Amino acid sequence: MGRAVGYGDKMKPVRTCLGCRARADRSLLVRVVARDGEAVVDQSAILPGRGAWVHPTFECVNKSISRKAFGRALRVEGALDMGRLQRELTQ
Ligand SMILES: [Zn+2]
Repeated sequence: MGRAVGYGDKMKPVRTCLGCRARADRSLLVRVVARDGEAVVDQSAILPGRGAWVHPTFECVNKSISRKAFGRALRVEGALDMGRLQRELTQ
């Protein structure tokens, strides 16, 4: 009986919130991706491509929008339409 080689060692899947920059379990954050120049919520975290993570709160969403953090995190050149994302996450 040898010791199992532990890789990962119960590391939690932690992501950094774009709004408050705090690290949080990814189950507490929502994934955001860019599609056709628009930021959309990736509810099941399955959409391909680069994703950004944020707390689904008014404060964190608006903080990241005002810092234009989504465009940078998602490597979007030019304007990224945040309207729908903002409505969905801040209601
Ligand atoms: Zn946050």
